[in-house]
Amino acid sequence: MTGTFTLGVDLGGTGTRVVALDAGGAVIRQASFRTATGAPDAAVPGLLAELDALADGLEVTAAGIGASGPVTAEGIIDNPATLPAYTGVDICAFTEKVTGWRCVIDNDAAAAAIGEYAYGAGRGSRTCVTVTLGTGIGVAVVTGGQLFRAGDGTHPEAGHLAVPDAPVPCYCGLARCWEQAASRAALEGLTSGDPATAAAAARRGEPGPVAAFALYGQRLAAGLGTLLTVFRPDRVVLGGSAARYLDLFAPALAAGLDHDAPYQWTPPVVPAELGDLAGAVGAAVLAR
Ligand SMILES: [Zn+2]
Repeated sequence: MTGTFTLGVDLGGTGTRVVALDAGGAVIRQASFRTATGAPDAAVPGLLAELDALADGLEVTAAGIGASGPVTAEGIIDNPATLPAYTGVDICAFTEKVTGWRCVIDNDAAAAAIGEYAYGAGRGSRTCVTVTLGTGIGVAVVTGGQLFRAGDGTHPEAGHLAVPDAPVPCYCGLARCWEQAASRAALEGLTSGDPATAAAAARRGEPGPVAAFALYGQRLAAGLGTLLTVFRPDRVVLGGSAARYLDLFAPALAAGLDHDAPYQWTPPVVPAELGDLAGAVGAAVLAR
């Protein structure tokens, strides 16, 4: 293959996905495998061996890594709970030394947001807020192609916005966090642990499940409304597994975001497009 390529790594707690991206943003190769556990002195060379295989015959200039959980401003993964084999080591320095590729690392939610902004549901927007509805709620804001950074270089911890009706206290120590009300885990709580079955019932018009998704939309609006007020984005991208039920909770979400002009600010809220590839594609984009 001709041209230059960037590699992207999505380093998750369970699985790792790697892609090779061409200059136009097309994924030309990909692979996935179980995330290494054990000692970093074995895990990092193992990851580089996978990347080396992916890059075989390609002119690679850079590699980007999106890692689950906190990444320090110095580019060190600080996630002993889910990424013990990669915590505390300077993966990028090691990668650059061994391969000669430029290397960058960031949090996986930030990488996914950049992926969606460049080649997915955020394409063509100016300021895009990406909300990932998973075990918790992850939020990243991209404006003009750049990630919004906090003072310490991290992304906003918007899962911990205070909302009126969180069902349980949060592990962070606050009583009323948005992610306790509106994460995928919270949706499971509203649907007897099985959102897919409840969604099928709601689409048949069964009142209980219809009400559960309406309540979910209302709770999602409670935190999203604050983000819209603060950032006034022209696009909101919803990712994570709960986003696939957007059609069921969109009316309640819209009602919850409705208030008086000129304070009303309701951009399109759309589902993510890149699915499981968003993190790895975004990591490759960050590396360019
Ligand atoms: Zn919290």
